[in-house]
Amino acid sequence: MKFKSIRDFDLKGKTVLLRADLNVPTKNGVVTDSTRIDRLRPTVDHLAKQGARIVVLSHFGRPKGAPDPEFSLSFLAPSLKESWGVDVVFGSDCIGTSAREAIAKATPGQIVLLENLRFHKGEEANDPTFTKELAALGDVYVNDAFSAAHRAHASTEGLAHHLPTAAGLLMEAELTALTNALESPKKPVMAIVGGAKISTKLSVLHNLVRKVDYLVLGGGMANTFFFAKGGEVGKSLCEKDMAEEARAIMSEADKAGCKIVLPADRVCVRAFGPDAPNAVYPMDSVPADMESVDVGPETIRAVTEILKTCKTVLWNGPLGVFEVKPFDSGTNGLARAVADLTAKGGLLSVAGGGDTVSALENAGVCERFSYVSTAGGAFLEWMEGKPLPGVAALSASQRTAA
Ligand code: AMP
Repeated sequence: MKFKSIRDFDLKGKTVLLRADLNVPTKNGVVTDSTRIDRLRPTVDHLAKQGARIVVLSHFGRPKGAPDPEFSLSFLAPSLKESWGVDVVFGSDCIGTSAREAIAKATPGQIVLLENLRFHKGEEANDPTFTKELAALGDVYVNDAFSAAHRAHASTEGLAHHLPTAAGLLMEAELTALTNALESPKKPVMAIVGGAKISTKLSVLHNLVRKVDYLVLGGGMANTFFFAKGGEVGKSLCEKDMAEEARAIMSEADKAGCKIVLPADRVCVRAFGPDAPNAVYPMDSVPADMESVDVGPETIRAVTEILKTCKTVLWNGPLGVFEVKPFDSGTNGLARAVADLTAKGGLLSVAGGGDTVSALENAGVCERFSYVSTAGGAFLEWMEGKPLPGVAALSASQRTAA
């Protein structure tokens, strides 16, 4: 995939429209996890050092295409200032007179944060008139919002057709990591997929079996596969109506030379809850009155042995009900094995999507993986093999605008 990076541009004196993903988790108006903001700092630093005037564009929440104070971005200016170490001023609309005035009034070195893009219907509709109004505010468009790249919105896709376009450093890091993990990986490649249900990850599984050497399944979805092979799962979470799908995935895997690895043992409980009495059973002996809530130690040992032979691992989804202790043990054990092998060198480890980041944070290994993506939906759609409109536009813009 070819695209321009901000390192390819001379940005001195240019007004840069920086599409960021500031859709951060909050509680009572306070940011509870600033990872997405912090990860934008290298791009902000680079643009500032180059002498660009930075105008930040983002969505926040799901307002219905009209101004709604509940979803205003104004509260974020102090958090950006704290994380990026620069003065941030707020513009009360993302287009029109107030946007232009906020940009014109900003002193050199000040960053302008414009109001929520989704206060205008034109954003999600990728409306050409709205896109042109946005484009009129700047000289260069920088997309650093990989986590919004699965949407073909005005600010994630449309702008690339109107202005010289570059990927920000976070976007570049995401795309490099993802390409190295699945598009042109060092082999053998292992994918670890956990989570509750296979029904939400069918396309991911269909795509992965064609691309990886080992597909390790954990979480509730492993039960569905085991059931589809004729096994008994007791009271475990199992999508029995998905058995046919699971068999189709297993047969595709066979044809493609991908080995599906199911848990060897399971941690089971009679009544689920924190510190619930539990016991480990071989996968084929889960008692009829118990449910499995985690993978057991033999599974971790066996998967680690295979992992030692691999050069690349891609991880999505927890292996057990990691939110409730001690049923995070399986996820933690395998996460530490991945982190240790990564540290030794020779293993590239990439993770992301949905609950994966919190599961790996809980295991205390996020910093020790090669790359952990902050993207949810975009990461999953990429794992499904779908083209992401925001990324496609970055490549296409090389021909149209740059
Ligand atoms: P997903 O969003 O599909 O990645 O699913 C994540 C959820 O799967 C987490 O909330 C886990 O608690 C849940 N989960 C993982 N393993 C199991 C299991 N064995 N039984 C039920 N839920 C599980």
